[in-house]
Amino acid sequence: MITVQRVAKAAGKHLTKTALQLRKALGARATRSCPACGAAVVGFFRYGDNGQWGCPECGASPRERLMNWLIQQGALKVPTDGAILHMAPNEASLVRRFSAAADYTPADLDPSRYGVANMTRVDLMNLADRDRYDLFYASHVMEHVPDDMAVLRNIHRALKPGGEAWLIVPLWDKPTEDGSFDIPPRERERRFGQWDHVRQYGPDFADRIRAADFDLEEIDAATIDVATRHFHGLDDRLFRARKPGGESAR
Ligand SMILES: [Zn+2]
Repeated sequence: MITVQRVAKAAGKHLTKTALQLRKALGARATRSCPACGAAVVGFFRYGDNGQWGCPECGASPRERLMNWLIQQGALKVPTDGAILHMAPNEASLVRRFSAAADYTPADLDPSRYGVANMTRVDLMNLADRDRYDLFYASHVMEHVPDDMAVLRNIHRALKPGGEAWLIVPLWDKPTEDGSFDIPPRERERRFGQWDHVRQYGPDFADRIRAADFDLEEIDAATIDVATRHFHGLDDRLFRARKPGGESAR
């Protein structure tokens, strides 16, 4: 479903991206750096309300840059000798990093939407794997699933003991508001920000993750020092959920 707002957002994104590339071409000093592609950039382009959203070179979002930065810092370790399930793999830098794993599964409910090799169809509502994965990654996925507690339990079962789920969701400051696919798409867009979202998460997403028996660490870009955050345009919050047991990687 395409709405006027979304078209306007997309057009603005394109214009500011072009302007940034032009500034660089005209000799503006590139004083920022994108951790996703390594490029020196003059700034990040606007998307919606966020004036520092996308990398003009690779398109990486603040959350994609945060993930790359955390991995580069060693705060997060990609289990390259293990198995990774990567849902909705539209962040190219993370596909590159995760596909180095011995057993890499890029997956989505609708694999045809992705230009990634070996896409697999996975419906998280019916994910039946047990003790299979070392890492599960899903950015902006949980707000699409009909029953998120069922999905969190499925993810927990699918992970090996000690395995981790790295989850990012759109957040607001208020408590989570749940909906369903019975609500008309236009109403879902109004309430949850996008027509195919069925809830809007708040900070209490953490409680749901813990209720599914995970140990949880929240890594918020806001806690990173201001200079670093500005230099790399880092934003967003990672919910790092660990299935108890196994050898601790921390
Ligand atoms: Zn980049």
